[in-house]
Amino acid sequence: MEKDQNMSRANLLAKLAVAPLAIGAFAALKIEEADAAKTAKSAVQYVTHPVGGKQCSACRFFKAGKTAKAAGQCSIVDGSIAPNAYCVAFAAKS
Ligand code: SF4
Repeated sequence: MEKDQNMSRANLLAKLAVAPLAIGAFAALKIEEADAAKTAKSAVQYVTHPVGGKQCSACRFFKAGKTAKAAGQCSIVDGSIAPNAYCVAFAAKS
């Protein structure tokens, strides 16, 4: 009986020790999944200059970098995004 309790405690401790690793791996998969869900720049004709007065910094999908001129991110297009770039998915901020 005592041996069984020791075994189940050992099992529980082993599972608790592995849990943070499993959670970390799951979080990493979620991040990869989020990146994979973004569209490639080539698919949206991304260019590094404004077009028709439209540019990423005025787009609702743009997430600014640390400064106004620093590269930021886009919520739908993959990779580093220049604030004065443009793509065909542009949607003006409301
Ligand atoms: S959708 Fe296109 S225009 Fe808008 S921020 Fe993303 S890359 Fe720039």
